[in-house]
Amino acid sequence: SVVTRFAPSPTGYLHVGGARTALYSWLFAKSQGGEFVLRIEDTDIERSTDDAKQAILDGMQWLGLDHDKAPFYQTERFDRYNHFIDVLLEKGLAYKCFMSMDELNKIREEQEAKGEKPRYPGTWRDRSDHPEGQAYVIRFKNPLDGNVVFNDKVRGEISIANSELDDLIIRRTDGAPTYNFCVVIDDWEMGITHVVRGEDHINNTPRQINILNALEAPVPTYAHVSMILGDDGKKLSKRHGAVSVMQYRDDGYLPQAVINYLVRLGWSHGDQEVFSVDEMITLFSLENISKSASAFNTDKLIWLNQHYIKTLASSEVAKHAIWHFEQEGISIENGPALEDVIKVQADRVDTLKQLAEISRYFYEEYEEFDANAAKKHLRPVARTALETVQAKLSDLESWTPENIQQAINNTATELEVGMGKVGMPLRVAVTGAGNSPSLDVTLHLLSKKQVVQRINKALE
Ligand code: GLU
Repeated sequence: SVVTRFAPSPTGYLHVGGARTALYSWLFAKSQGGEFVLRIEDTDIERSTDDAKQAILDGMQWLGLDHDKAPFYQTERFDRYNHFIDVLLEKGLAYKCFMSMDELNKIREEQEAKGEKPRYPGTWRDRSDHPEGQAYVIRFKNPLDGNVVFNDKVRGEISIANSELDDLIIRRTDGAPTYNFCVVIDDWEMGITHVVRGEDHINNTPRQINILNALEAPVPTYAHVSMILGDDGKKLSKRHGAVSVMQYRDDGYLPQAVINYLVRLGWSHGDQEVFSVDEMITLFSLENISKSASAFNTDKLIWLNQHYIKTLASSEVAKHAIWHFEQEGISIENGPALEDVIKVQADRVDTLKQLAEISRYFYEEYEEFDANAAKKHLRPVARTALETVQAKLSDLESWTPENIQQAINNTATELEVGMGKVGMPLRVAVTGAGNSPSLDVTLHLLSKKQVVQRINKALE
């Protein structure tokens, strides 16, 4: 059965490109009833950090990309890599190379001077006159002839001549196995059937296939996913806004929106734009991944975020919104249920961050009125309207949206003014600002006591 993996190097946050690769890999596993493996490629000790490992785990969890097995860490698997290096040495498929860096650099310079591609010339490939006590690396004996051919699920057939590949170092002088070798052993031992990864790894693939063949290991199917570019056609970077997945959380995006956005960034199903995760799983296929680079489009992400804020169950939105209220320092303990606030505010915001920002008045007394709104609607004209509506609201026996609306209507009729002349002062008095959902629901979410008090404050 299908096993896929996501194999990030923990040298930074989980970025958008990595998250998309992870999503495609995860979706393919799910779509095939298979398993998804998370493998942290932390062998670059100097650049790998615990914070970055945690950031990857957090990002994956936030996106809901759960792995089926405990995450693997390459630094815990050195004995496996060393074991297989020994196997290759014994089989005569790898060898010790005593060439010093200086020698190698000199050869490279000569090759470059002649306009050749620099490559190790196989100097120690068949030698047995090994010097005593001298540092060496171990190199893989790449086949000399023929081609490595594989059928990439995104790019189609790819063929590389072995004469293009030199003998890869698989163990450094300090004894550390190298990146390409660890990947090969892991993909094999973890039973990976499909490797979905960024196209920046496509040059590694023929080398990895040769090593798998030497070990008589099965060769997985590969799918190399194209790059993500900024809206200016350049490689996606911080200049284009958030590139870390967790930055999207901080900015107020729902994971559902980000996932939906990422799936469409390089994969399509007709012209459908909105996909639930279940739908993605049903419809996903590697063949429909786009060969060309995808351009990032923040407007579309915002559009999707709005869509999900409006259409997801408010309890689901609330799960993610709570954090933003905390960030804004708004305690939601006392006041209306967050779900109810979400229901009335959903179509007024692009992000959960905005949702928290504009919902403060449901949970706290505002500090001061929005100056423009107050100038326009409160002072000096509105005293009579506020006093009249306050009296009618105070008299309400049951605090329902219908009764609240009736009290407002009755005030307007009694004073022979338009609804706005009552509604706007009331809105500013209660919310502190000139914008809010309709007054009946807004006031209803607050208590009668709060509303009366806030009108008093406005009348001061
Ligand atoms: N660790 C590699 C990276 O972060 C990915 C390797 C792979 O997917 O084979 O780019």
